[in-house]
Amino acid sequence: MITKIFAALLAASALSAGPAVAQSPGPAAPDVTIIHAGRLLDRPGQAPRTAASLILRGGKVEAVRDGYVEAAAYPGARVIDLKDRFVLPGLIDSHVHLDSDRAGVEGMLSAVTESTADHAYEAQMNARKTLMAGFTTVRNLGNGDGVTLALRDATARGWVDGPRIIDAGNAISTSSGHMDGRLGFNDDIRTAVPTTNLCDGTESCRQAVRLQISRGVDVIKIATTGGVNSVIGAGVGRQMFDDEARALIETAHLYGKKVAVHAHGADGIKLALTYGADSIEHGTIMDEETIRLFLKSGAYYVPTLSTINGYLERIAKDPNAYAPAVRAKIDWRIRITGESLARSVPRGVKIAFGTDAGVSKHGRNADEFELMVKFGMTPAAALQAATVNAADLLGLSDQIGSLEPGKAADIIAVSGDPLNDVRVLKDVGFVMKAGRVYKGG
Ligand SMILES: [Zn+2]
Repeated sequence: MITKIFAALLAASALSAGPAVAQSPGPAAPDVTIIHAGRLLDRPGQAPRTAASLILRGGKVEAVRDGYVEAAAYPGARVIDLKDRFVLPGLIDSHVHLDSDRAGVEGMLSAVTESTADHAYEAQMNARKTLMAGFTTVRNLGNGDGVTLALRDATARGWVDGPRIIDAGNAISTSSGHMDGRLGFNDDIRTAVPTTNLCDGTESCRQAVRLQISRGVDVIKIATTGGVNSVIGAGVGRQMFDDEARALIETAHLYGKKVAVHAHGADGIKLALTYGADSIEHGTIMDEETIRLFLKSGAYYVPTLSTINGYLERIAKDPNAYAPAVRAKIDWRIRITGESLARSVPRGVKIAFGTDAGVSKHGRNADEFELMVKFGMTPAAALQAATVNAADLLGLSDQIGSLEPGKAADIIAVSGDPLNDVRVLKDVGFVMKAGRVYKGG
């Protein structure tokens, strides 16, 4: 009997060994796929190839060849014809919040009326939108209820469709800082809101980082300044002492975790860079000294220009979408966005692509490219920011960011030439992650 079942299993596995298993859940089967690419930007930063082939095996790139290789050379291989497309590595967004893209007053209400289970389904929907937009990897920077940590593991197992996720768990700030979830609520609700992500003083800040590490996070996110969306009229300048910033960053590094720092004001950027921050998120106000510190430390700047799209769209729909204390900061951010990028690009500050989707809409991550070009980047540099640079920032350069032998088969294709017009990236027709086709093909 057992022999019979075993034989049946063997027969079933022989049947499924053919090439057409792309849509099944789970890791890609170890088959061979050949992609014929009209143009291929296999290594962003270098010139694209014309008429090239990608040989993929076991979810990874095995070889890149000039010309269209014959399928006969690889018996049983499936061939994907993208001869009329521009093919490039899957895009990487270094700053998202997958759990929601409802913000302002609507976001506050959802926090006290919906369950963690509700948020989990919403996060999964947003993850799927993100993947279908051509973003095969994201760094999720801040979610308190564990939803995105679970989603990270579920997508890795192939249970649900979504990008690879590098997750920060709960973002950390001082009490009354940007990550204090109690801000804006009355005293009854305030006492019910968890505060384990808040710290004051050295010991408390070390503990806050260790708590996130014990939850299995990949990266640590902290805030050294106030934030636009926090419901408090305390501005967007520095809100943390030296000992607190130092304790947070040193503790994360002690465990080998990078630190992403939310900072708007130049004083908070300097504080973070002085103690070894790996990236500055938003970085809205930069002066000569901040730029010098970026160049000296080698930290990345993640501009998140797309936030203004989210603000403008929400306010157009409802002028009262935000509390008055928040609205004043939004108006400021809309006026000033892009100035820091325009200032830092010619100086050679390293830029990694990041949208802050959640503030802006999920699935429209590529809108950021248009703003990056508007504020001084070439299309080629913007593409580098969303591939090789972001891979470097995430510590995944050996796996993603370019299409070279041994790296993941995370591949997208568009019509038109994104090196001429980045807007073509808003319409990604083909998406493959780890060798599995999710869209097109
Ligand atoms: Zn954010």
